[in-house]
Amino acid sequence: MEEKDCIFCKIVRGEIPSKKVYEDEQVYAFHDINPVAPVHVLIIPKKHIKGIHWAEEQDEALVGHLFTVARTIAEELGVAPNEDAEGGYRLVFNVGKGAGQTVFHLHLHLIGGRAFTWPPG
Ligand code: AMP
Ligand code: ZN
Repeated sequence: MEEKDCIFCKIVRGEIPSKKVYEDEQVYAFHDINPVAPVHVLIIPKKHIKGIHWAEEQDEALVGHLFTVARTIAEELGVAPNEDAEGGYRLVFNVGKGAGQTVFHLHLHLIGGRAFTWPPG
């Protein structure tokens, strides 16, 4: 379940400090230490899973819950979509080293508070 040397497991256990945004039995969310936008939150399962590619069928409800939590946080932090063109946010999984994944504990990036371009870099 937990991995001794995983940085995000350490955050869940409180061994490494983090700025908590949300917590429940299954999920923990905190501000990214190196934000790429005014709002940059990481939403992670407390259970250690290497990344979204490695989630199993039994994790489906847990993975779905990450998105519900993301919506709640987006509302709370004021980046939910609205009539204003500034509104809206991006949800991102980097999947594997080649796609920019650096921490191998599943995390959903919630990024907002600025305009975005497509395609992403
Ligand atoms: P990724 O590149 O998708 O694996 O994202 C990992 C993210 O974790 C990066 O955006 C880092 O800035 C962030 N990060 C790494 N260590 C910490 C930490 N101790 N507290 C908060 N965010 C972190
Ligand atoms: Zn972990």
